[in-house]
Amino acid sequence: MKFFLRRSIAGALAAIVLCCGCAYNGAKRMMPEESGAIAEQGNAESADRTGKSAAKPWQYADIAMGTVVQQTIYAKDETAAADFSGKAMEMLARLEREEISWRLDTSEVYRANGAAGSKEGVLLSEDMAALLENCQELWERSEGAFDVTLGAVTRLWDIDKWAAGETVEGFLPPAEETLAQALDTCGSQKMLLVWEAPAAEASSAGNPTRLFLPEGTQLDLGAVGKGFAMEKLCSLLAEHPHVTGAVISLGGSILTYGSKPDDSPWRVGIVNPFDTSASIGILTLEGQWCISTSGDYERYVDLDGVRYHHILDPKTGSPAVSDVRGVTVLMKDSLLSDGLSTACYILGPEKGMTLAEQYGAEVLFVMADGKLEMSDGMEQYFKRL
Ligand code: ADP
Ligand code: MG
Repeated sequence: MKFFLRRSIAGALAAIVLCCGCAYNGAKRMMPEESGAIAEQGNAESADRTGKSAAKPWQYADIAMGTVVQQTIYAKDETAAADFSGKAMEMLARLEREEISWRLDTSEVYRANGAAGSKEGVLLSEDMAALLENCQELWERSEGAFDVTLGAVTRLWDIDKWAAGETVEGFLPPAEETLAQALDTCGSQKMLLVWEAPAAEASSAGNPTRLFLPEGTQLDLGAVGKGFAMEKLCSLLAEHPHVTGAVISLGGSILTYGSKPDDSPWRVGIVNPFDTSASIGILTLEGQWCISTSGDYERYVDLDGVRYHHILDPKTGSPAVSDVRGVTVLMKDSLLSDGLSTACYILGPEKGMTLAEQYGAEVLFVMADGKLEMSDGMEQYFKRL
């Protein structure tokens, strides 16, 4: 097994000023190279007539999956960039509506939750079956720290509806007994995924899978939905050869893809949990990467000196108590980078790094005392500011 050198980097935080033209309010901030205010008109004028990408990107910002989506697109021309950007937004809205939302009655997750306790269970799409299978494996490998069956508990807290640091009147943690009852319904071992024999003509599409959940058990894919979406964005990008480079930010997750016309690397800032308007360091990356961050500063309510945030410890059903303020996972594969960052937040650096290693992921922890701990592979990409 590869030995991870954990390096603690102490030191005062350097004050930095980012001159971003766009209001990036996700968990990360891109540096001016990717996010500077670039007039679309200027881009159109500078488009290369030889068919290469324009030197500067087109930028789009919109809302999907309950978060701000920022797209920085290098493409042959404005039409190609706008075409991709529009399709990406449609796809994200469709994913939310048809697959992962637990609130919308049009989604697969909603139907699965509605079928909890039924004898028939629910037939899953191939995508959802693969996603849940991966989630179950992550639950096992994280010793239960990551658990998509926490739905009954996350609904009791419902912290996602509060913006970070909002002053909330009337917020009350759930009563102990209510919490204990909801916690009884959780545990990913309760997710029974049964492969059905495929019809002969359907064999190439893989075996259909049926999900059985016991009465009361509810799915919440909040910790992995953006990873799922990033995977779909990668496929969509591959279908758009006129898009030669992109950085897409989905709240706490960022996808880099392709390259810039001048081949300079992507530079992605990691938000500083102690000052969320600044970056604590920069990742310098080439080509396709997925970067996911989880932290207790993303969505929380402060009450009587206690911070109630949105990452729950499945052992207690309450916000995880941790020395970690933020975790960033870097990996080529998108699907689980999101889930891994949530798991690593709960597990902390030692167990988190062992888990990340199993997925070939690099990980960076920002600790409550301001120190950083990272996998040795992370060091070649990350520079503290
Ligand atoms: P964000 O959604 O802000 O990117 P995360 O990816 O860390 O943050 O996911 C947090 C969300 O995942 C919560 O809002 C909740 O819906 C769900 N969740 C909370 N705790 C867990 C957990 N231990 N395992 C799986 N999902 C969780
Ligand atoms: Mg996550």
